Amino acid sequence: MDERYNDRFGPVSAETARKLELSRIETENMESRDLRCPICGYRIGTVYTDRKGHVSIKCRKCKFDGVINLAYFRRQKTGRAGRVHAR
Ligand SMILES: [Zn+2]
Repeated sequence: MDERYNDRFGPVSAETARKLELSRIETENMESRDLRCPICGYRIGTVYTDRKGHVSIKCRKCKFDGVINLAYFRRQKTGRAGRVHAR
């Protein structure tokens, strides 16, 4: 298991562990891309190809708090490295 979390919340149930494992396996053959803040470009999370629609985001950097339609904010896929420099 790769998932990391604060263990002060105790061990997860077998059911949750199974769902986490399944979720991870399902994404292995999926393409992913970074979900970035539309204002400052801060990386908020990762979205997979089956993710569509609207998502509510909160940016830790510029404090943008709002809803975006993922269709309007497509970015280049992760793995095509080179252009984006982590700061
Ligand atoms: Zn931001």
